[in-house]
Amino acid sequence: MGALLAMALNGAGPAAAAGRVVLDRLQPGVYVARAGNAEVARANAGEVVPTLVHVTGAGVLVVDPGPHLTWGNGLLAAIRAVTPEPVLWVVNTHAHPENVLANAALACLRPRPVFLASAATASLMRQRCEACLARLAEQLGPAVMRGTQIVLPDPALRHGDRLATGGTAWEVQVHAAAHSASDTVLYAPRRRLLCVGGLAYRERVPEMQEASLQGWRRALRALSVLPADVVVGTAVGTPAQMLAPTLAYLDALAAGIAGALAAGGDAARMPGPAAGKPYCRWRYFASRHPLNVQHAWRELEDLWMHGEPLA
Ligand SMILES: [Zn+2]
Repeated sequence: MGALLAMALNGAGPAAAAGRVVLDRLQPGVYVARAGNAEVARANAGEVVPTLVHVTGAGVLVVDPGPHLTWGNGLLAAIRAVTPEPVLWVVNTHAHPENVLANAALACLRPRPVFLASAATASLMRQRCEACLARLAEQLGPAVMRGTQIVLPDPALRHGDRLATGGTAWEVQVHAAAHSASDTVLYAPRRRLLCVGGLAYRERVPEMQEASLQGWRRALRALSVLPADVVVGTAVGTPAQMLAPTLAYLDALAAGIAGALAAGGDAARMPGPAAGKPYCRWRYFASRHPLNVQHAWRELEDLWMHGEPLA
C-alpha cells in the first residue's frame, strides 16, 4: 500500500483551509478529496465529504462534490492540477447539503457535466435544497456559503444500472430508506472500489436523523458481500474499517432496543448497546449516540407493536 493511499485511508485529518482542496490518489486515476472525518460545524466549514474524483481517460467523474461553491472551486483547481480532461459526470449519492451543494461550481463548466442521482434523491433535492442551503448558511455563516446556488440532478440512476465512464463500468445500487431516504452506491468490481456516500462511517458514530435503522442494516449486509478493497463513504478505508464496524454498531443498537422492548423497558433505561465495545471511543459518541437510540427506538417500537421481526 503506497504512502498516499495509507494517508487517504487514515483520512481523519482536518480539512484543508477553505477553498484549498487536496486530492489523495487511491488508485491509478482515482482520487479522494481530503476532508474532515467530522460532523458539519463552523470549525470545519462543512468540508467533511471525501469527494471521489475518477479520471477515466474519457472525462472525469465526480461523486458528491461537497458543501459549497468555495469547496467546489477548490476541487476544480485540484482536478485541473492532475488532468486536463473535462468533468463529464457528477453523481449525488444522497440529498444531504454537505454532499451536494458544491454542484454549483461544476455547473459553471463548459461543456456542462451531467448531474445524476436516483429519482428519490433528485425529488428530495428539489423539495428541500432551498431550506438546506438556508440552514447551512445559518450554521456555517453566510460568508462560507456565498455564491452557492442550487443545481438539481437528473433523476437518472436506477438500481441495477451500469454507469459507463471511460474504461470503468460502475454498477449502480439504490438503497431506499437507509442512511437517508435514498442512498446511491457506485461499485467498480474490476477496481474492487465501492463508493457508498453516507452509508459507511469510520471511527465515528453514524448520523441517523433521516435514517431507517433496518433499511441501513439491510443495505450494509448487501454491500458487505461485494469483493472490495477500498470503500469511500464519510471517510475512506477498507471494508473491515468501514462497512463491518458501521453494521456492527447498527446491529448492536437494534439488539439493545429489541431486548429492552421485549423486557417492557423504556428508551431512557436502555443499556448502552456499545458498552465495552469500540464504539464508545468513536467520535461524537456522547452527543450522537443518545440521539440514535431515540431515533431507532421510535422505528423499532413501531415495528414491534405491529408484530414485525426486529432481527
Ligand atoms: Zn448524509
